[in-house]
Amino acid sequence: MTAFAPVPSYYAASANPTPSRPHLSESIETQVCVIGAGYTGLSTALFLAEAGFKVVILEAATVGWGASGRNGGQMVNSYSRDLDVVARQTSADAARLLGQMAFEGGRIIRQRVKHYGIQCDLQDGAVFAALNPRQMKELEHQKKLWESHGYDQLELLDKQALQQQVNTERYIGGSMDHGSGHIHPLNLALGEAAAFESLGGVIYEHSAVVDIQQGQPAVVKTAQGVVKAEWVVVAGNAYLGKLLPQLASKSMPCGTQVLATEPLGEELARSLIPRNACIEDCNYLLDYYRLSADHRLIYGGGVVYGARDPVDIERLIRPKMLKTFPQLQNVKVDYTWTGNFLLTLSRLPQMGRIGSNVFYSQGCSGHGVTFTHVAGQSLALAIQGQTQQLDAFASLPHYPFPGGRLFQVPFSALGAWYYDLRDKLGI
Ligand SMILES: Cc1cc2nc3c(=O)[nH]c(=O)nc-3n(C[C@H](O)[C@H](O)[C@H](O)COP(=O)(O)OP(=O)(O)OC[C@H]3O[C@@H](n4cnc5c(N)ncnc54)[C@H](O)[C@@H]3O)c2cc1C
Repeated sequence: MTAFAPVPSYYAASANPTPSRPHLSESIETQVCVIGAGYTGLSTALFLAEAGFKVVILEAATVGWGASGRNGGQMVNSYSRDLDVVARQTSADAARLLGQMAFEGGRIIRQRVKHYGIQCDLQDGAVFAALNPRQMKELEHQKKLWESHGYDQLELLDKQALQQQVNTERYIGGSMDHGSGHIHPLNLALGEAAAFESLGGVIYEHSAVVDIQQGQPAVVKTAQGVVKAEWVVVAGNAYLGKLLPQLASKSMPCGTQVLATEPLGEELARSLIPRNACIEDCNYLLDYYRLSADHRLIYGGGVVYGARDPVDIERLIRPKMLKTFPQLQNVKVDYTWTGNFLLTLSRLPQMGRIGSNVFYSQGCSGHGVTFTHVAGQSLALAIQGQTQQLDAFASLPHYPFPGGRLFQVPFSALGAWYYDLRDKLGI
């Protein structure tokens, strides 16, 4: 597949109507130029448009083409590492603020869905499923931890209660986050783009940025156009490539794969996940799944380090699905696809600025639906001169990958092997 080519997926096939947008073919001026129309870029742009800023988004492909339009749709709270890890990495004040913001992303999404009437099949409820006693203990710890930050929506589930949520023998228990939920991810992105445009924002598609010249104004170039802007927001995440080498050296694109079954019919679908929550297990290399609005099972899992596209995704994911739901043995798979998220060494996100007026956020390490919306808020506030949130995120360490790009894949795969083994042994 060529870079930025269309990605056939269940989401693309069930996307709400959206206009095709022009590519940039002239020289323009704006206050803010956002690079990338995933959730990070769209969320930032929408916050800024709401605050009255003139904003242009440059997108290399189409709105939601990246991870934002292909993900599992699990709208879960907190970060890829939990708040106790965050607290060990920064000051007490920053940790407190990051603790509050860990539960903000879902609120932002819900507010937007309601305010702009975004049709994205939003459903309440997310289950974390434990496969062994160590994971159950971690969920008990998580409940106390989140409560210490004022969040009281977690409910622990024993095996029987868990089976009322997920009809499988695999888990020993789990927890239900009543404040989380799931969405049709591409339709959320398309809805946010439409909301942004309704406020006068402009999106150019098929307009990959090839160069950023820092300065006041910054000069952002595509193959056929130029944007001069007071501020630039870099939101290309795992698809940014080497546009900014200082961001590439401290992160690694990784692929994760998803399948969508044929429609199962309401009865069979509800027999699998009776209350329509989304589910993720507690393994390091986790399985994540949920039902679509038309009663398909959407099942994702696994990680390909270095983001090479696997040849046969169904062969990779179907056995995982059948391990959870053996009753789906004869069910057909209608769609498979892969997408890239951006891993950091700490698995914590990286946000900050380059010079005085180029801001970035990247690397939520696979846990980004809610975080990217928080990031949008933090970046938009920073551009308005309120840097408290951005500074708290920027205080988290941004480690380079050991060995640079050449060795980061084997190092990370080795780390994942170790954590995967621990999960398999339940230690
Ligand atoms: C298969 C999959 C499943 C996932 N499941 C979940 C889940 O269930 N829950 C969860 O919380 N997270 C999940 N994630 C992670 C989550 O989707 C991402 O963290 C999040 O969408 C990242 O959003 P983003 O806007 O930062 O990046 P993206 O959505 O990847 O957007 C970046 C955009 O920037 C554009 N771009 C890149 N370079 C340039 C350039 N030079 N010029 C112009 N545009 C450029 C790209 O074309 C792309 O559209 C999943 C990720 C994947 C891949």
